[in-house]
Amino acid sequence: MELQSAPPPIPAGAEQERIDALRRYRILDTLPEQAYDDIVALARQVCGTPQAVMTFIDEERQWFKASEGIEGEETERGIAFCDVAIRRPDEVTVVTDASRHPLFRDYPQVTGPDHLRFYAGAPMVAPGGHALGTVCVIDTQPRELSPRQRDALRALARLAVQLLESRRGQLDAQRQLVERELFTRDLLRYQRQLEAENTELATEASTDALTGLLNRTGLEKIRQEDKLQSFARNAPYVVAVLDIDHFKRINDTLGHSAGDAVLRIVGEEIGRAVRGGDIAVRYGGEEFLVIMPGTPLAGARTVVERIRGDVAARPDLPMAVTMSAGLAMGLAGRDAPEALFQRADQALYRAKRRGRNRVEADED
Ligand code: GH3
Ligand code: MG
Ligand code: MG
Repeated sequence: MELQSAPPPIPAGAEQERIDALRRYRILDTLPEQAYDDIVALARQVCGTPQAVMTFIDEERQWFKASEGIEGEETERGIAFCDVAIRRPDEVTVVTDASRHPLFRDYPQVTGPDHLRFYAGAPMVAPGGHALGTVCVIDTQPRELSPRQRDALRALARLAVQLLESRRGQLDAQRQLVERELFTRDLLRYQRQLEAENTELATEASTDALTGLLNRTGLEKIRQEDKLQSFARNAPYVVAVLDIDHFKRINDTLGHSAGDAVLRIVGEEIGRAVRGGDIAVRYGGEEFLVIMPGTPLAGARTVVERIRGDVAARPDLPMAVTMSAGLAMGLAGRDAPEALFQRADQALYRAKRRGRNRVEADED
């Protein structure tokens, strides 16, 4: 419709909603895109004008997403024909000769070198009813727009909105994807953290703080995990029980911390002597248990003798320390570890009786 007088500006509240709606499309200041260029080219051809523009009305400016026959990317909102056009979302605003129009004749595009005379703008109306901008055509000559051209311009404005909508759909889908990925990553990180903490807790709970060897809890866990059962069937394995001789005397003469120092030294020597598959446990106060899978009795005796010798030879002992040990050998799958432990303990008892500072094996 030919515009006669100035339509009232959009009320502040509605204008804020309109700006919000525009921002949600995230179209402002994007690079040129073919589909939008195509719409503008079609508008120009259909209407037969030298210039056509797709423009979005931002708070203080109008910004061109696509244009033909016009320089620049944006102009001040205050002198935008399109700012007037969007106040009538349902109309195609037509100005036949701006130089004679009471509202536009003093606009700089009209009085200046741009020599604007003809303007027709179809608002791009978002589904919520807000006019985001226009698809418009411009001429330096006065002209008219036929009803078919007007309809075509309106159709192009609708197509532009379709483009914007699908663009937003894509952006939202992308964002959802990214958000979901971030969420999953956070979740995984949290899970790993929990696992690490659990492992740490479990390690702490099954390790003897003084010697760093396994404690009874640790041994129990190994039993529950069936690791003992997984020794090669019918392979020989040895359970050794080691006990510090007259340990009470160390505590009594030099104090508890000297006793602790001895325990630490014994722990170190046991740790040094055992192999990868062996299980070394601080079983009680000054009693240690070593399980040696795949080891015959003679080999196990050598290991335990070495521990005994190396402990006795440690230069940092607070006083002379000897150890006694009992060994028992069995076959994996035939002899339960508990049974071997009983036999090893009896051998230890014998070692104590026979004067300590020695290794006894259960003879079967
Ligand atoms: P035997 O040669 O017959 O084995 O005599 P023993 O003195 O070594 O054996 P006994 O079982 O009578 O004494 C063990 C002592 O170990 C008693 C206890 O106070 C002490 N003890 C147990 N745990 C710890 C510990 O963590 N640190 C210290 N310093 N002493 C401990
Ligand atoms: Mg003892
Ligand atoms: Mg003891």
